[in-house]
Amino acid sequence: SSQINRKTVSIVGSGPSGFYTAYHLLKKSPIPLNVTIWEKLPIPFGLSRYGVAPDHPEVKNCEETFTTCAEEFSLPTNKKHKFSFVGGVTIGKEILLKTLLDEQDAVVLSYGCTGDRKLNIPGEQGTKGVFSSREFVNWYNGHPDFAQDERFTDFNWGKVSKVGIIGNGNVALDITRVLISSQIDEIWKATDISPLALKLVRKAPVKDVRLIARRDFVHSKFTNKELRELWELEKFGIRGSIGSKFFQKEMFDPSKYDRAFNRRVEMCSEYLKPFDERSKKNYKKTPPPSTGYEKFWELDYLKTPLEINRDGAGAIKSLTLCNNQIHEDNSLQLLKNSSNILIYDMDLLITSLGYAGIPLPEFSNLSIGFDRDHVANKQGRVLTTDGEIFPHLYASGWIRKGSQGVIASTMQDAFEVGDRIMQDLTVSGALSSEKSIDLSNIRHSTWEDWERINKKEVLRGRKEHKPRSKFLTLEELWSNIED
Ligand code: FAD
Repeated sequence: SSQINRKTVSIVGSGPSGFYTAYHLLKKSPIPLNVTIWEKLPIPFGLSRYGVAPDHPEVKNCEETFTTCAEEFSLPTNKKHKFSFVGGVTIGKEILLKTLLDEQDAVVLSYGCTGDRKLNIPGEQGTKGVFSSREFVNWYNGHPDFAQDERFTDFNWGKVSKVGIIGNGNVALDITRVLISSQIDEIWKATDISPLALKLVRKAPVKDVRLIARRDFVHSKFTNKELRELWELEKFGIRGSIGSKFFQKEMFDPSKYDRAFNRRVEMCSEYLKPFDERSKKNYKKTPPPSTGYEKFWELDYLKTPLEINRDGAGAIKSLTLCNNQIHEDNSLQLLKNSSNILIYDMDLLITSLGYAGIPLPEFSNLSIGFDRDHVANKQGRVLTTDGEIFPHLYASGWIRKGSQGVIASTMQDAFEVGDRIMQDLTVSGALSSEKSIDLSNIRHSTWEDWERINKKEVLRGRKEHKPRSKFLTLEELWSNIED
């Protein structure tokens, strides 16, 4: 295959956006391509592996598409295109972005959102029992940077009864499910949740989980499917509620809202009724246990956290908040007079405000633009700090638009960016010579290495009827690659 001169594309990050960009290019490009995905971890798939909830295995089906694609295009029999996965290499560290830009015909940034949005209130840093959703989710999904983090392993889970979650997107709902149902084997036993995390979370006698949002019910961020899943935990004695100040069916004139929202109103008003009073057959499903309800979750609205309060040992004791008001023009006002200040006791607080996009260290030197939480770009073509097109640099997925959107919309986005790359590569004149980047002195993993890790994890899991049992540290991952 060496006689084919291919154009080279380097993709930074092996999450859904990186892989769907590669997939689209390899399936659709009329000109021969040599596509490399660079991933900082020795294993692929980003948030499909380390974000998506363990009890939603069907969401991870995209990994099968990526695997089929990688296998097909890694084969030497595939003469036109070439694909490689390079794991364990952080772009900006072991290999510079500058090197990729100098030596490749196109570079795609799809490294996701690697930081946390913050509340920026006193006590957020350094208080025991306060975690961001990214930290907490990475922990229970067995991410090697978090799986054995002492902030989790040293925390006294045995005293966690009241939980606060700031935010009410699907991630907040995932976290609520984990915390409130961890003791139910039927849900977690056959999943790939980190056994270290599950063992600790199960010790927590969680009674109340409160999901706190700045705005009102109309502005809730979760989807109906995830919300219904929470309501349906009822059969395990887990009961949801929404204060009548924030939700009554009559508050929402159906002619003013879309179908999905009207269905949400219908769903909540049915589930809020006692089981026997529900009218619709599909809202009856399975009755609560005869012992009644033992655990509760609540959607709470129109409040802003002001301060996290600690006990003598430096652990969270309570959260101070104020009431908010929404005006006609949709602006939010914080009411800070004493009658609007509240204190919620809590033993654990998770801030679920979204993942934050972080610029790579070289961005400022290279004059690559960054808008608040994503790479500055026009339809996926990256812009300089002056707003000009940065030659042959692209962005896709969460780092292109900020941390929003599910895998399906991320795929759509990646396909569109893939189309732009193909357009540009087709008109960009004579082929440069196909260069490869020297990896001889850099520890890295290949697609075959991942396939071996994958086999081992699946085999370990099978004994326990789980889809897999993940290796939880970088040492374990590397030693299983190098043995
Ligand atoms: P990511 O998936 O974050 O991938 C980025 C990759 O880049 C990572 O592998 C990272 O290690 C790597 N990387 C970072 N920096 C570098 C660097 N410098 N060099 C090399 N590599 C680097 N969507 C659904 O459809 N259904 C769900 O149920 C669902 N649940 C979710 C639950 C959670 C908790 C979260 C956070 C998201 C969920 N999503 C879900 C959304 C979905 O995960 C995202 O839409 C998708 O993963 C975004 O893909 P991405 O490739 O842009 O980013």
